[in-house]
Amino acid sequence: MLPRQFQLDHQLRFTSIAGEAGTARLGESLRSVCSAPVWEAIHDGLLQALATRKAFSYEAEFPEQGRQVIEIVPDIAGITVSLQPKVVFSSGNADEFFQQSTEMLCLLEIFSGTLVRVNPAWQKALGYTQHSLDGRKLFELIPDEDRLEVTAALAQVSQGSIARFGCRFLAASGEFHYLQWSIAPGKEGGLVYAAARDITQTRAVELEIRRQTNRDSLTDLLNRKAIEEAILRMLTSGGHGAFGVLELALDRFKWVNEALGQEGGDQALLIIARRLGAALRAEDVIGRLEGDVFVALLPGVATEADVNSVAQKVLEAVQTPFSLRGIDIRLTACIGMVIAPFHGTDPKTLLERADTAMYQAKKASRGHVTLWRDGMTLSGIERLALESRLSQAVDRGEMLLHYQPQVAAGTGQLVGYEALARWNHQQLGMIPPDTFIPMAEDSGLIVPLGHWVMREAFGQAARWQQVLSGLGVSVNLSGRQLAQPHLTDQIKELLAASRANPEHMDLEITETDLMQQDEAQVKDVLFRIKDMGLQLSVDDFGMGYTNFGRLAKLPVDRIKIDRSFVTNICENAADEAVVKAMVDISRTLGMKVVAEGVETLEQFEKLTSMGCDIIQGYLFGKPSLPLDVPRLLTAR
Ligand code: C2E
Ligand code: CA
Ligand code: CA
Repeated sequence: MLPRQFQLDHQLRFTSIAGEAGTARLGESLRSVCSAPVWEAIHDGLLQALATRKAFSYEAEFPEQGRQVIEIVPDIAGITVSLQPKVVFSSGNADEFFQQSTEMLCLLEIFSGTLVRVNPAWQKALGYTQHSLDGRKLFELIPDEDRLEVTAALAQVSQGSIARFGCRFLAASGEFHYLQWSIAPGKEGGLVYAAARDITQTRAVELEIRRQTNRDSLTDLLNRKAIEEAILRMLTSGGHGAFGVLELALDRFKWVNEALGQEGGDQALLIIARRLGAALRAEDVIGRLEGDVFVALLPGVATEADVNSVAQKVLEAVQTPFSLRGIDIRLTACIGMVIAPFHGTDPKTLLERADTAMYQAKKASRGHVTLWRDGMTLSGIERLALESRLSQAVDRGEMLLHYQPQVAAGTGQLVGYEALARWNHQQLGMIPPDTFIPMAEDSGLIVPLGHWVMREAFGQAARWQQVLSGLGVSVNLSGRQLAQPHLTDQIKELLAASRANPEHMDLEITETDLMQQDEAQVKDVLFRIKDMGLQLSVDDFGMGYTNFGRLAKLPVDRIKIDRSFVTNICENAADEAVVKAMVDISRTLGMKVVAEGVETLEQFEKLTSMGCDIIQGYLFGKPSLPLDVPRLLTAR
């Protein structure tokens, strides 16, 4: 007796038999296990399948099994043969089989996709009451996304081939189950038998396994999750040192997909994946983030020169022409790179920055390479050198202060200046504060530097105040300084030494620093500063998360609305509404409002009309060396 389903190789030897793992029959030839009449009934079909390489089915009479529908599906390895007893509805026996089968069987009208009759197994599997599926259309019960697949399968059946396909199917509960269908062509009238198996469980497990594994299913490279984990390991497990992260995206890959079809596109991606593997070293880690975006982690790649040489090698490999389906194809790609840990110390930041660099490269041209840069083109070594140089900057006379005017809203009358630190590096020239202030904060150098800034600014204020007694000077104070136990003593000393008028001295502390530090400690320091008579401002207001309850308890005199809200205030109604709210809150808290970054007359007028008190920005002057007193007087 023949098994219900089995696979044969090209010599018609059993390679697998359903339900018979490890049986002695594996490896035996089909001919040797068949009786003569069975061999007679089946061998024509097998030979035809081997010759035509096409799936088909036919009926045959077997001595023991009776009339069977034989389904033959050839593939590269050989052929799969399934036998199903022939169901004849007019005959009592077949009807009984149909009714009692535990498999979901149905009679299907393929042109309209109507389920003419379904057996009770459907009720059990999908919860429908008996006969409620009879007469329903298949397409009412499957989601739109699966429609194409099903239509194609039915067309295949109508042309005389067997179709096997999977699709979701609506159960009575309203959930979709995943059904694996197998439909054999019928004789006439478009009526066919179809069998379906509910493989929802298996499929869920399969999807879960694929999700859990770290591989991209097309290229077998690491997927995004696995790449992030690999970066994290390289960052945290010592001994790796610096490493490069390279992101490569093909140029105009959409076009390739269009031209070759998705399958061709997939093949092109596979070729690229293989070439990346060949071009890079064994210790490099390669992944695919999505679509045509690949990534490589490169241990030991730590300088711009390393980056360029690897990137060129990769581009050369990727851009070498290949031929697919007779078409010669030359792809180009762009590369963005970062060097860890200098450009980021967590996987997300590094990948984001590599992505930013890649987009920059794409903007430049096809086949371009870009290394991520910000204000920080600095390598670790350069940074260390710069830091040690910063510690001597004051002593070497490289530090200086620029002053930017602040004027009264409405009248435009000068009321004071903000002191802004400048570093004029002997070899490198002017280094912007956005570079050296964070560096000074990281290293703790901000404490001595901030002390110097206060001494300079207080001294300058005293000289101005001898002529213009009411002129104010604002000094930026970093969070690190605020946490220094001797801050208030130092301020007292500096005031005494400079003889600046404390009432016109203002200290600016960023909203973030104010809100992040220990509440009781901040409150204590601020009150002691207030006791000495100084003014206090909240800098970059709106950038952090202000707790208004906390702010209300602090002795703050003014808030400085961050430049980012001012820039578009005339164009963006949302920004205008935010500034309006900030002004209202400050009024409630009894604070004055300073707007910074004001560049146009229009902004000045708008902010004045909204109730701002003080305006600062390029409109009234960029930060510059302090004007001497006579010139200041004439300017007035
Ligand atoms: P900040 O305190 O918010 O200073 C205002 C910044 O905005 C200054 O940049 C100033 O030049 C710029 N600015 C002013 N008006 C305009 C304008 O109309 N348009 C535009 N586009 N920009 C304008 P700067 O001098 O580069 O300073 C950057 C930051 O460095 C400062 O931001 C401050 O956070 C920090 N900083 C500077 N000096 C010191 C200091 O002595 N101590 C501390 N702790 N931080 C400082
Ligand atoms: Ca400031
Ligand atoms: Ca500011």
